[in-house]
Amino acid sequence: MAAIKCMKCGANIPEGASFCPNCGAPKAEEKPAPQQEQQQTASAPTPIPEPKAQKSIPELIDSIFSETNMFVMIFLGILIACIGGLIFTFGGSSTTIQIGTVINVFGCLMIGLFLLIGGISIKSYEKFVKLGMILGGAIMITWSLSIPA
Ligand SMILES: [Zn+2]
Repeated sequence: MAAIKCMKCGANIPEGASFCPNCGAPKAEEKPAPQQEQQQTASAPTPIPEPKAQKSIPELIDSIFSETNMFVMIFLGILIACIGGLIFTFGGSSTTIQIGTVINVFGCLMIGLFLLIGGISIKSYEKFVKLGMILGGAIMITWSLSIPA
């Protein structure tokens, strides 16, 4: 078994270790680079990779159901519901009525969902506004789910 030597400082690196215990350099690769280049880079500090910050679930919900997203998604929901309504109204055939209904329900569900979760998770709103959003969202979801039945 050949002893692994650090390419930067020449210290012995124990088997299984991925960094030199003496200077912290990564373990030498199979191909040794020319000696001169190694000496030139020997003083360069090894950057320590920062651990990636993982978002917790409440933070994730906060970021998805932020105030800005709320307006965008509710607006999109209204738009989708209107498109569904138009297809439903002007489509003519039973297929377009079905497609229109599905799109309309999807849009309404989107509005309801974002009203409901927004009312629960957005902290800056007044209690009555939050309550109104939660109630409105719940009614919207219940109503839209009752349409296809
Ligand atoms: Zn070393």
